[in-house]
Amino acid sequence: MKKLIALLLAAVMTMSLLTACGGNDGAEADETVTDAAGAENEADSADAAGAESEANDADAAGAENAEDAADAESGADAEEAEGGEVSEALADGVLTVGTNAEFPPFEYVDDNGEPDGFDVALIKAIGEKLGVEVVVENMEFDSLVAAIGSKIDVAIAGMTVTDERKESVDFSDAYYDAVQYVIVPDGSDIASAADLAGKAIGVQMGTTGDFIATDDVEGSEVSRYNKGVDAVNDLINGRVDCVIIDKNPALVFESTFEGQVKAIPGEQFEFGVEEYAIAIPRGDAALLSQVNKALEEIKADGTFDELVKQYIEN
Ligand code: GLN
Repeated sequence: MKKLIALLLAAVMTMSLLTACGGNDGAEADETVTDAAGAENEADSADAAGAESEANDADAAGAENAEDAADAESGADAEEAEGGEVSEALADGVLTVGTNAEFPPFEYVDDNGEPDGFDVALIKAIGEKLGVEVVVENMEFDSLVAAIGSKIDVAIAGMTVTDERKESVDFSDAYYDAVQYVIVPDGSDIASAADLAGKAIGVQMGTTGDFIATDDVEGSEVSRYNKGVDAVNDLINGRVDCVIIDKNPALVFESTFEGQVKAIPGEQFEFGVEEYAIAIPRGDAALLSQVNKALEEIKADGTFDELVKQYIEN
């Protein structure tokens, strides 16, 4: 028994000695591991930065070349995307969506204070297809594009695909056709493009209605609002002569303020057709393909038409 205890003691002492001596070794080993990880991360970000700047350079050379370069550089990525690769934006299981809930029937705040509307329902259906939770952030329309890829993953906000926006973001396949309408006070004689010249025009800031009023109407005096409804209120108060805003919100405002305003189709003013699409971070091929695939499924299985009936045709 005594012998056994002695043996055990010796063993314990040897072990603690080893541990004490090995302590530093262990620490060094740990550091080595950290170094290795650090080196790897650096290499990764260097790669990513390299790929990005090359893709950007190629962009400058021309859209087609840019695509080729992107394919060559991240060929595996793009192919995997087609085969169902999951975007890193979805790695946390959450799709953070920016909207501006002041644009009925596409987005508005419901009676419970929650964002609702066609776009909100559509992106929730897309989230369901992608197996992620959808969190909706209500923000100003004008700050959506800049927030994509940082504060929010994507934006859905009755957003028209424009060349200027395409310089900052990518767009999903279009999901809805629109046109700008002109809201005038009941009894106004504004009826054609020529009638708009020199008029005081209310618009929602940073929208295609704003761009038309500012760039295409001669001598216009443009008042910009964060909410379309505020522009319509100023129209009723006589502070502006008309409001240029998308067709469906214009029709909603026409019925909200029945007898006070009327909404005139943009075709009468030679306004062109616009297409709404979901804005996603530029270059996220995986997310683009995931969103488009989900959208396709939603159209094929009848969900899309249901939502049109429920939110737009109602
Ligand atoms: N379709 C318009 C645009 O993209 C307006 C969108 C909006 O006000 N939500 O500029």
